[in-house]
Amino acid sequence: KRRSVLSRDEYIEGILRCDRRILSRAITLIESSRAADRELAEEIVEACLPHAERSIRIGITGVPGAGKSTLIEALGQYVIGEYGQSVAVLAVDPSSQVTGGSILGDKTRMVSLAACEQAFIRPSPSRGSYGGVAQHTREAMLLCEAAGYGNVFVETVGVGQSETAVHDMVDFFLLVMLSGAGDELQGMKRGVMELADLIAVNKADGENVACAERTRADAETALHFFPAPPSGWTPRAVACSAITGRGIPALWNAVREFADLAQGNGSFRQNRREQRRRWLRDALEHGLGQLFRSHPMVRQQVAAFESEVLEGRTTPFCAARSLLELYAGASRQGM
Ligand code: GDP
Repeated sequence: KRRSVLSRDEYIEGILRCDRRILSRAITLIESSRAADRELAEEIVEACLPHAERSIRIGITGVPGAGKSTLIEALGQYVIGEYGQSVAVLAVDPSSQVTGGSILGDKTRMVSLAACEQAFIRPSPSRGSYGGVAQHTREAMLLCEAAGYGNVFVETVGVGQSETAVHDMVDFFLLVMLSGAGDELQGMKRGVMELADLIAVNKADGENVACAERTRADAETALHFFPAPPSGWTPRAVACSAITGRGIPALWNAVREFADLAQGNGSFRQNRREQRRRWLRDALEHGLGQLFRSHPMVRQQVAAFESEVLEGRTTPFCAARSLLELYAGASRQGM
């Protein structure tokens, strides 16, 4: 069955009244590589902007199998049940660029959360350049906020630059770990722990409880060695179980405490301003790259320069500079 074509206004009205099907279709437009779709998507995002930004954005990372999606499902249901707030779940999946597959997998996993009226779950985008995917998630986040979702979760895995990218688009960053991880703590990329506002040692259930509590204490000690984040927040660690619900209230309390503190001292607003600045810069770089690559002169010349570099007859640096100069010259002459 063909879906009817929606007008710009139908998209915008649909999003503002939180029609999940329309929201979903608008995000598909954002992820589309067709120029006409992109153009329409930009208009929609622009129109939604005045209604966006009223949410808390929570980034979640951790190795595959740590329990991120199960935890998001538990947290989401807790927030909906306990606070009557709505929840949107997005993902930045860095795998698509490398393997074409998905590390985060199909988000139909969060079945019970997806069944909630107050939840919106978007499967991870499966195509597109990585930089593009992060940009798309930022835009999708704004649409979810315009639709009224008060809590936006952005999930990613610890691969490549995806953690930094997600940290750069959220207010609060949660690292999900497993217990029994004395070694894991040491082996863990320091950089990721340094980004964390909260570490959740998951699967603290059954025989695993004592072990998880030890890991929690170790993690909290480790956190103290990092410089305090600009928000003035003291990162902490909790032990939790996405299955039994143990520690879920403590986890969510930390998020709320953080939000109160950061909103009170202005750091919440300041952080978002800085993020918008970086978003602009990323968009500029992305756009410049596209302009460059799609320029007829560049397309014509690039293979020749490449083979010079591959044969070792010139350095990548010199070749890049020559090409950029050619491009700049051609642009000046309006060619
Ligand atoms: P992700 O790859 O980080 O998203 O991990 P998943 O949420 O898919 O969970 C991986 C596996 O761990 C699944 O089989 C879950 O059922 C299981 N799991 C997740 N959270 C818990 C937990 O708190 N306790 C226990 N015992 N198992 C869990």
